[in-house]
Amino acid sequence: MLAVQLTEWGCEPQLRAVAVPEPRGAELLLQVTAAGLCRSDLHVMDAAESSFDYPLPLTLGHEVAGTVIDAGPDADRSWLGEAVVVHGIWSCGHCRNCARGRENYCMTLRPRADGRLAPIGNGLGHHGGLAQAMVVPSARYLVRTGDLAPAVAAPLADAGATAYHAVRQHADVIDESAICVVIGVGGLGHLAIQILRHFGAGRILAVDNRPETRPVALQLGSDAAFADLTAAIPALDGGADLILDFVGTSDTMESAARALAPGGRLVVVGSAGGGLAVGKHIGLASGWQVNAPFWGARSDLEAVVALAINEKLHVEATTYPLTDAVAIYRRLRAGTVTGRAVLVPPLLTSHGPQHAEASRQISNVAREVGR
Ligand code: ZN
Ligand code: ZN
Repeated sequence: MLAVQLTEWGCEPQLRAVAVPEPRGAELLLQVTAAGLCRSDLHVMDAAESSFDYPLPLTLGHEVAGTVIDAGPDADRSWLGEAVVVHGIWSCGHCRNCARGRENYCMTLRPRADGRLAPIGNGLGHHGGLAQAMVVPSARYLVRTGDLAPAVAAPLADAGATAYHAVRQHADVIDESAICVVIGVGGLGHLAIQILRHFGAGRILAVDNRPETRPVALQLGSDAAFADLTAAIPALDGGADLILDFVGTSDTMESAARALAPGGRLVVVGSAGGGLAVGKHIGLASGWQVNAPFWGARSDLEAVVALAINEKLHVEATTYPLTDAVAIYRRLRAGTVTGRAVLVPPLLTSHGPQHAEASRQISNVAREVGR
């Protein structure tokens, strides 16, 4: 099958022919139907060898939709034939955070003693979904997507779940009088606007310096859209209750912290590498908070999938063939991709030497589903 693999740190990934994986134990095999490209893939491919404890070659792809086509001997076979999206955090399931339903803060995600980052899940330490097929260790990491289009389902795995988690954890301050700001109307920000609306935010202001994003923000439910936060200040009525920063430069974080209302909260989601000085008497509104959430729990993914199934969430996605992966990553780096870029692999059966194996898997599914 075809797979987009990182073979060397600091280099672009390559399109390679690899064996179709065989599910063992409780593993399930997915035929990938769509996989989103994420800016964090660029951080991984740009990294030095000392940054990640990930074995290479590594198939990228942590935003994956697929159909379950085969199951290991100990797997839950009720998933065969199901359309799914993969929760990309392959959490341990039994640490104290997993027990609290906070799998995105699983204790196994701690960095190694040498500072390298531990594997997280598919595409981030384990083989991911930029391929025709992918194995998941257990059905615990799958969420059913029903009739949702794969190109809509895939971005929910990361962009959707991350935006949902960022908003959901501040639900207690989101009401009809709340003034909320979304900085960066890209792959995550455009979803956050709609999720804020769903949570009942009174006023949603969007900030993005790319003029083409501002009509999109208004269309998706923002009350106003501005080129920068300074321009938005008069509309904040004394300060914002909640600011979601999907950019994450020092500039966006510092200006956002200064724009908070007393008791206001700054949520830093973007990974542009900026920093923010934290302190008590540094000229910010009293009671301010900042947090830097990571991805989303399985329940966040389930919730955002339900929103999409009920047509409460519009996902801006453009599809490309899997074989264009390297070119689309270059465009992502150049900033010329709007919405989410989603790659669609050729069906497993239509590709070359694995044909016999693929046919066997498809007929397995037909058998199981027909039972
Ligand atoms: Zn990502
Ligand atoms: Zn855990």
